[in-house]
Amino acid sequence: MRPLIAGNWKMHGLTEDSAALARGIRAGLGDLSAEVLVCPPFTQIAAVAAILEGSGVAVGGQNFYPAPLGPHTGEISATMLRDLGARYVILGHSERRADQGETDAMVAAKVKAAVAAGLIPIVCVGETGAQRAAGQQEAVVGGQLAGSLGAEFAGVVAYEPIWAIGTGKVPTVADIRGMHAFIRAELVRLQPEGAGTRILYGGSVKPGNAAEILAVPEVGGALVGGASLVADDFLRIIAAA
Ligand code: PEP
Repeated sequence: MRPLIAGNWKMHGLTEDSAALARGIRAGLGDLSAEVLVCPPFTQIAAVAAILEGSGVAVGGQNFYPAPLGPHTGEISATMLRDLGARYVILGHSERRADQGETDAMVAAKVKAAVAAGLIPIVCVGETGAQRAAGQQEAVVGGQLAGSLGAEFAGVVAYEPIWAIGTGKVPTVADIRGMHAFIRAELVRLQPEGAGTRILYGGSVKPGNAAEILAVPEVGGALVGGASLVADDFLRIIAAA
């Protein structure tokens, strides 16, 4: 399976700069040996999907509300994301777990709704710095996997140690290898298709460290925040894959 390089634009991008970023990515793509995805804010998904159409780069969302339609003022559904051109959706990002109080049960409901709408969920898991210092990373991530994926998970898992997100701090290769091996073992134990689930690493992936991280066994790609907002940096990460 080709590695997946996914860009999470978070809450960045007005019309002009999102279009410029999408055009910059499109213009710099060589032969794609990786699968590539960008996840703009809701307001830019349709425009970015139009710019990237036919390029081989997929577009995704960063969240949705897990009801098909109805009286949910201010929310959008998985079907609405599909309608805009999204193929993937990031779920349970640590920023949503922290800022919006998203629980594993809420993420599991979204996973189910995403798959029903034809979206591929990318479920984020990861420990805080304090949890790692206390040696609890496997217990925390194991609990998130058990609670967030549902019974027959068909999607992608992203291991994102929270202390590495946006900080420039990156776990050692040995720590990444250890956590990805642990996640694989848990997926095999918990899920019928667990042996084939792609596991991304996320947290301060940059052009300078991407090749080393992507070479780690069981790392099936990267979820990239800050560096996905600069076309040249994102393209260099894609090239490293
Ligand atoms: C993220 O928030 O998903 C992320 C990986 O961010 P960054 O690459 O900026 O650490």
